[in-house]
Amino acid sequence: MVNIDCFACGKTVKIPKFIDTNNYDGQLVCQECNSLLHVKLAKGKVQKYKIVENKHGVKTWADVLEMAKEAEKRQEKEERPGGTSGG
Ligand SMILES: [Zn+2]
Repeated sequence: MVNIDCFACGKTVKIPKFIDTNNYDGQLVCQECNSLLHVKLAKGKVQKYKIVENKHGVKTWADVLEMAKEAEKRQEKEERPGGTSGG
């Protein structure tokens, strides 16, 4: 029995019976968060593992970079505290 922890939600992914854990190279859907994973199994062990589509709300690297850019923009936009002009 092969157990795979979902990269997206961290829960254990149940491997359907039709998947031969001794020789499988294909996609797998996490029942917990519906993320689409690509796994390669051989002799009951995980050889490769990657997230194809993350539905858990965890960001992919592209999204992380995008968020970093957004954060920079916000900082630029931030107004400087202005003092009252004396008169
Ligand atoms: Zn998951």
